Amino acid sequence: MGGRVPGMIEHIVIAGASLAGLRAAQTLRDEGFTGPLTLVGAEPHRPYNRPPLSKSVLTGDDDVALPGGDEPEAAWLTGRRAVRLDAGARVLTLDDGAELRYDGLVIATGAQPRRLPGDALVLRTLDDALALRAALARGPERVAIVGGGFIGGEVASTVRALGIPVTLIDSGELPMAGVIGATAARWLADHHRAHGVDLVTGARVTEVAGGAVLLADGRRVEAGLVVAAIGVVPATGWLDGSGVKIDDGVVTDAALFAEGASGIVAAGDVARWPHPVFGASVRVEHWANANEQGALAARNLLHGPDAAEPYAEVPGLGTRVHGARVQWAGLPALADASEVAAGSVEEDRFAVAFTRNGVPVGAVGVSFPKEFNRLRRAIVG
Ligand SMILES: Cc1cc2nc3c(=O)[nH]c(=O)nc-3n(C[C@H](O)[C@H](O)[C@H](O)COP(=O)(O)OP(=O)(O)OC[C@H]3O[C@@H](n4cnc5c(N)ncnc54)[C@H](O)[C@@H]3O)c2cc1C
Repeated sequence: MGGRVPGMIEHIVIAGASLAGLRAAQTLRDEGFTGPLTLVGAEPHRPYNRPPLSKSVLTGDDDVALPGGDEPEAAWLTGRRAVRLDAGARVLTLDDGAELRYDGLVIATGAQPRRLPGDALVLRTLDDALALRAALARGPERVAIVGGGFIGGEVASTVRALGIPVTLIDSGELPMAGVIGATAARWLADHHRAHGVDLVTGARVTEVAGGAVLLADGRRVEAGLVVAAIGVVPATGWLDGSGVKIDDGVVTDAALFAEGASGIVAAGDVARWPHPVFGASVRVEHWANANEQGALAARNLLHGPDAAEPYAEVPGLGTRVHGARVQWAGLPALADASEVAAGSVEEDRFAVAFTRNGVPVGAVGVSFPKEFNRLRRAIVG
């Protein structure tokens, strides 16, 4: 089915003009939708790539071009925010009071960083990254990073490469244990320390004040610059009262149609859907997920629920920490057993297989992409 669907979908609005929103827009045009298309994006920028923000941008590289970033013909309302949705009347209200009527809506508003009380930078947007880069250029004596997740770990790695002392503070006993399992997390902690990171674990931050991070047990970490990398929350505040079901994200069916309303799909960091492979409700904050969900959500919206396909990709992500390649896939957190399936932790090159009731549910690789990919493929089978 190509072209406009008379009487059904005339005007499509996409809320959120980043990766998932752009892929949705491109797909609608590729699938032959010729009707009016409007993208609403809160940032002043056209879509750009976030992964370089914690890596090359901090060391001076300005290239944030999105792979496959061609912009389709559409009305681009950047620097404008959706503030209210009337899902019954199919009207979206913007921050300047403008009202957009739609027949189909793609929710792709992503996620926003959690903040700490006090004076700490966050890293989510290009503007955040440029502010952090400028602060690093002022030569702080030490940078404290709160949160040892993948963004915190990447920033620690980048800042160490700049030769600046780093303290990485995490609430868990091992950084990222909930995501990559205890074996790889123990290796990661050692790897950070081996690269000069002062790692503080099991610590709860109460405040950032007076050039220091204050911990609940009374300790102080003195730092000229503090970065909060304590996770994100889905950007759904504007949907309050709309009828769209929210539960740590926009709750959708397996084909990404939002529950509680009609004519609405969701994609990317903001979407929570029942994953058919794992039988669990998941929300995924990875590039590939936004990339592929944006496209599928748009196709399903255009072709309608009866022709819609479920989204069944296995989530996965790769990062580099102090030169080592760390990859993970599936949902290791669901596992009841795990083992080092290849390589050795002592040699900084290994792959861990995660199973639940003997069925593969996750894979983690450290500088061993071949074995990681073998384990990852088993998750789908
Ligand atoms: C520093 C950093 C490094 C990363 N590195 C990696 C990596 O190495 N690998 C990987 O897989 N993933 C990485 N990610 C995650 C990846 O970038 C995200 O998963 C991806 O950007 C999600 O895309 P999205 O379109 O769903 O949401 P977002 O990219 O968050 O975009 C949502 C957009 O919607 C806008 N918006 C929000 N509310 C409204 C509103 N009410 N009205 C209008 N617009 C609104 C936001 O301003 C934003 O521009 C990284 C993320 C960051 C921040």
